[in-house]
Amino acid sequence: MTTIRIDSCPICNGRHLIHKLSYTDSISNKTFEILQCNDCGLHITQHTPRLNDMGAFYPSSEAACYQPARCFNDKLLDFLLGKWYKKQVKIVCRESQRYSGVLLEMGCKMGYFANAMRNSGWITHAVEYDTTAREYANKRFMLQIEEGGKLFNINPRSYNVVVAWDSLGEAVDINRTLEKLTQLIVKDGVLMIAFHNAQSDNATHYGSWWSGWKAPRKRWHLTPQAFETLAEKHNLEIVCRQHSAQRAFITTLTSEWNQSSAKGIIKPLLRSIAQAFKKQQNPTYYIYTLKNKPQ
Ligand SMILES: [Zn+2]
Repeated sequence: MTTIRIDSCPICNGRHLIHKLSYTDSISNKTFEILQCNDCGLHITQHTPRLNDMGAFYPSSEAACYQPARCFNDKLLDFLLGKWYKKQVKIVCRESQRYSGVLLEMGCKMGYFANAMRNSGWITHAVEYDTTAREYANKRFMLQIEEGGKLFNINPRSYNVVVAWDSLGEAVDINRTLEKLTQLIVKDGVLMIAFHNAQSDNATHYGSWWSGWKAPRKRWHLTPQAFETLAEKHNLEIVCRQHSAQRAFITTLTSEWNQSSAKGIIKPLLRSIAQAFKKQQNPTYYIYTLKNKPQ
């Protein structure tokens, strides 16, 4: 399998890429090197598979993709994620200042957020590369999610809101993808990009066990500095920058479970609560609201 070797940063074109850590993917059991751009802070998965080979790095069956919660940990995670999807709907309504409209989600995974948006009155479209997750979402929620590459066939100025929840980092070409996303919003529309901060206190604390890496599916790991450089390059105005303690809580809990083979509940929960309430210098999960700058 030929892989993609990165020698320069796609955001700032810098060539000072240094080794950050090695990360072992729990689906393929393969280890990937994470690099850091010394110039803008972007983190990069080295030697990622080409798009056509990525299928081997997604769950191979629906059973591997999602199983009904059996143990307490699974039930707790389902509960927390259920709350998070509702919160995401509120964030989108507040940031777009709309209670209905036409929305596109890039990288919708199993469709929970897209379904929540549709249930709250939005016309919702979505694209997703992971075939198993896409088929699951279409079957379970009767959504019509398109294959990820179809993003580039959508007509410009089609949406009031375009969102990418931690999925911009999965794009093969991050510049081309962001350029396309910016073209898809109507004149007064908003683009919302969220990501796990690769330079967060949380990422530093958990290192290779951090659940925000998700390599090799995630090729690019953003930081506020890297993302703001990218937004400037694409003529985007940052309307709002916020972080989510709720999402950080889930990331801490799953990182704790990654780190501990025992997958206990009390200690990880206490640590996650402590992290969520601690004032963080470098928060875990950022949500940006952006608009096209007037030409
Ligand atoms: Zn860079």
